[in-house]
Amino acid sequence: MRCPYCGQRLPDRAGKCPSCGHVLTPADWEAGEKLETKEEIREPERPADGGFQREQRAQDPSDGRFARTQASHSAAGQAVPRMGMKWYWFVSRISLLLSAVNNIVVGTQYVMGQALGTQSADYYGKYPAMNVLDRIYGIVMILVGMYAFVVRTRLIRRKASGPSSLIRLYVISLVSSGIYIAVAMLATGTNLLTWDLILSVGISLLMILINRIYFDKRKQYFQN
Ligand SMILES: [Zn+2]
Repeated sequence: MRCPYCGQRLPDRAGKCPSCGHVLTPADWEAGEKLETKEEIREPERPADGGFQREQRAQDPSDGRFARTQASHSAAGQAVPRMGMKWYWFVSRISLLLSAVNNIVVGTQYVMGQALGTQSADYYGKYPAMNVLDRIYGIVMILVGMYAFVVRTRLIRRKASGPSSLIRLYVISLVSSGIYIAVAMLATGTNLLTWDLILSVGISLLMILINRIYFDKRKQYFQN
């Protein structure tokens, strides 16, 4: 059969699609088997190039969700990009998990006054305001980490709110660390604006933009 959501070839009656993450129901198996049958008949037409392929699936109202999500692109049978979902898989399964755990672990260290490990006591003795700021920022980091888990679940469940909440998470994360660095510069009177920092802000902004474009193109996969 084929996955009725992303077209990935799967073993019959697969419980879940490893490519797009959809949990598959018996209705999906039925739709997936129909797709597979059509695919076999039309297989010789398929170009060797995997990046783009001609839309091969004829419109069929009984095809259920696949017809609703995919057939709209194939009105004239023109070439349509086949949407890869590897980045989605990486973001939802790995990247968000790591950043959620990292935020909660590091946030807890900040809340406990251990931002600089064994040097923390000296540091906070020198800059008492940082003691307060780090504890507040620690709480923010823990909340951001918890939100990352929420976003991850939304993406895995293909919630319509998934992609927008991912962007929101990245923006909140960037803005809160920006505020932290600005206040820390005032509190310590030191210049923390290194090229490393400027570069990492640039990378964050680029990531936000790339993710927006990527998920905007895949809106049809997030309809739960
Ligand atoms: Zn799939």
